[in-house]
Amino acid sequence: MTRPRKAGDPTKWPEACGRCGEHHKIAVRWPDAGICGYCYQQAKRTRGTCACGHNGVLPGRVDTLPACRKCSGVQLNVDCIGCGTEGELHSGNRCWSCILTLTIDRLLSPDNEPPSAALQVIGTALKSMKRANSGLTWIQQSHVTAFLQQLAAEPVITHARLDELPASRTREYVRGLLVEHHALPRRDELSIRFSDWAEQALDRITSPSHRDIMRLYIRWHHQRRMNQMDEVTRGTFLRAKQAVTVAVELLNWLSDQGAELAEVNQAHLDRWQAEGPTTRGIASRFLDWATKTNLIDPSLQLQPHRRGTSPRLDAAAQNGLVQNLSHTTDMNPRDRAAAILVLVFGQQVSGIVKLTWDNVTVTEEIVTITLGTVEIALTPPLDEPWRELAVTPTHHQTAAHPNSNWVFRGGSPGRHLQASTLTQRLSTAFSSRAARLGTLHELTKLAPVAIIAEALGYSPATIDRHALASSANYMEYMSTFHTRGGLEEPLRTVK
Ligand SMILES: [Zn+2]
Ligand SMILES: [Zn+2]
Ligand SMILES: [Zn+2]
Repeated sequence: MTRPRKAGDPTKWPEACGRCGEHHKIAVRWPDAGICGYCYQQAKRTRGTCACGHNGVLPGRVDTLPACRKCSGVQLNVDCIGCGTEGELHSGNRCWSCILTLTIDRLLSPDNEPPSAALQVIGTALKSMKRANSGLTWIQQSHVTAFLQQLAAEPVITHARLDELPASRTREYVRGLLVEHHALPRRDELSIRFSDWAEQALDRITSPSHRDIMRLYIRWHHQRRMNQMDEVTRGTFLRAKQAVTVAVELLNWLSDQGAELAEVNQAHLDRWQAEGPTTRGIASRFLDWATKTNLIDPSLQLQPHRRGTSPRLDAAAQNGLVQNLSHTTDMNPRDRAAAILVLVFGQQVSGIVKLTWDNVTVTEEIVTITLGTVEIALTPPLDEPWRELAVTPTHHQTAAHPNSNWVFRGGSPGRHLQASTLTQRLSTAFSSRAARLGTLHELTKLAPVAIIAEALGYSPATIDRHALASSANYMEYMSTFHTRGGLEEPLRTVK
């Protein structure tokens, strides 16, 4: 590694360096020339095989080629008293690698006791780091030093003991080292994470009887399946979380209605689904299980969940919508980005304002957004405003402040935008005549009138008129809704 060089100064240092020819302070006078500080540092770090066959540090020059001390006559101490090899010395006449070893030994066996087998594994792995100087830099960070000291105080290192130490990247890095070197068994991290997460999900259930049911569902449906897998995939892990989350919502909602799961009827299900986001359809996974285990009437059904990854508009309609969004008054990319999630994917404003950049993945092909339990994949042209946002300087500025990682930053520092503010902004943008005529017609094909109304601040009746006038899809939606029976909510007020 070379330090950035300052500009030379011929007035101050009239003698040019024999190596680089620039005018810096001469640090050492060697047989070939006076050498500046920069070239001196570089010379100490030059390694290779000299013309004489010697392999090691080649600080000198013979006929412009790097040469060993003996051949070049250069006097330089590069003999480590620890390991006897030639190398750049760190301190106390020891090389970087020996200092790294000493530091690790001091940390892992503070009383000069031989470290446990697990600690030895860590020690060996750390000592064999290719670049001793980066290894040393890593270990000398205070949080790493503290973690290794903590570990050294552990009588036995197990996964469970590691789990009790504060979660950190250092902890997982060290766990990985131990597993790689067979000092700890490989374990299924996602399966463990699901179990931990499921305990918290159970705590959110308000009724004890529902909690018992959910415990069975988690244990005999999800965990049993995970145990049958060699390794739980990320997809299985996320789907299981999603299924449990939505099922917990359903059970709590039933409790609010004063109903037990055994008493659930089709009217309950229709109402619950109509009141919330489309992701509620995911509860059908839980209901299938409940049917199989004879907890509920097998004729009960939810509207199947349409995956968030597939937009509900065809490509032409998407194009039209994006065009419309781009030309709608003076909508900025942030509002357009939000509008797409609301309009094309039927997501709720209250969820959208809570998005952080951690929920957004931008790759060359696709922009992926994780909204609660739904993963939304934005393909062109829907990804445009999101891409624009992701590269704007304000995004990078805030990314530097971890506490203000919000996609939709609010007025006060560290807070996200209020849902009501975003709703207000979207409805202002859409109140132009063009938007009313164009976009609203498109929107109504999306079906959930309640959501559009909420997002845009229209009354359901206004949107309904557009829907009835423009969209066969919408009529179709409403008719399937009706044939299912039990529509109790005044979702529509047709004039
Ligand atoms: Zn030089
Ligand atoms: Zn030589
Ligand atoms: Zn050494």
